[in-house]
Amino acid sequence: MADSDIRLAPYAAHPEQSRGRSFSEPPPSYRSEYQRDRDRIVHSAAFRRLEYKTQVFVNHEGDMFRTRLTHTIEVAQIGRSIARCLQLNEDLTEAIALAHDLGHTPFGHAGQDVLNECMRGYGGFEHNLQSLRVVDELEEKYADFRGLNLSFETREGILKHCSPDKAKGLAEIGQRFLLRRQPGLEAQLANLADEIAYNNHDVDDGLRAGLITIEQLCEVTLFRQQYEVVMKRYPDLAGRRRIHEIIRRMINSQVTDLINNARANLDRVQPESIDAVRAMDGALICFSDEMNEFNLEMKRFLRRQLYQHYRVQRMTTKAGRVIRELFDIFMAEPKLLPPEASREASAFEAQRGEEGRARAVADYIAGMTDRYAIREYGRMFDPAALTW
Ligand code: MG
Repeated sequence: MADSDIRLAPYAAHPEQSRGRSFSEPPPSYRSEYQRDRDRIVHSAAFRRLEYKTQVFVNHEGDMFRTRLTHTIEVAQIGRSIARCLQLNEDLTEAIALAHDLGHTPFGHAGQDVLNECMRGYGGFEHNLQSLRVVDELEEKYADFRGLNLSFETREGILKHCSPDKAKGLAEIGQRFLLRRQPGLEAQLANLADEIAYNNHDVDDGLRAGLITIEQLCEVTLFRQQYEVVMKRYPDLAGRRRIHEIIRRMINSQVTDLINNARANLDRVQPESIDAVRAMDGALICFSDEMNEFNLEMKRFLRRQLYQHYRVQRMTTKAGRVIRELFDIFMAEPKLLPPEASREASAFEAQRGEEGRARAVADYIAGMTDRYAIREYGRMFDPAALTW
């Protein structure tokens, strides 16, 4: 099937019906609105920094592990394949996938949890909301507006979760969290493509790092099913090829389940437009109940055996200390911030007092890559590094 034969389903996001951009701009001349969003994301500074941010393993631990950038590319790949198959908007799905982790702190979830604790009392820190903040406010690329001025649909997809409290301050983009409504199907899809990507690549990286074993993984249905198929068909296969053959098949079984289940839902409901999708009280792009159970089992396994592994815990504890101490020192001594962050801190503080200063410090820290944070920590606290 040639690309030009692929028609968007009525329930897909049609760029000519977009709810538009906050700052109105002339339509693009040779791209669609969502292609333009995707291109703006790829050219952003936050996107480039994903290369040096942790997924599970700290960036410098090994060149073979996923980083936030390679994770992001995998999410985009899975999302695009499924979008095309369901006649959803592939460009929008890609744009959301590429932007979904832009607001992530250094050091993965450890970084986000600690920064959230530091920000308790100042409105908290949530990486989803920060991703939106990056594209809405923090990127400095255009003469006419702050941020990237992305279309409503891309921003809607980036904001995956949001507490009702926060949603109240977000105007139209926060509405659905107050009304308990859904985002468009491309946003629903990007969310699950993220889940498929990390569940599978964390298995791969965990095995590679030697923190989990094939024997342990055989406790998990999702893995065991494909392990049995592979061993029956290729009894002599061993090493990396065996692992990859199993993981490849796990991804395929999840993607297939998602497509079949979503198709059945779409056939049953037949939404007439993206607004009909938004008005529903439940998601249409979802796994079967059985696959949901399998995924939960895998997540429980990964939490217990990988994310809580003592070696990962050592890394996350240390990373947390780096974040906390940087936060504390910049809050206490904002004059130590580099000029741009310092200007932001003064400007926000003038508007909102201490809370404003905290937000500027959080923005500065969240924007750091792993290695930048480690170097900055050294510059602040290592007496042997008495330089600026
Ligand atoms: Mg992700």
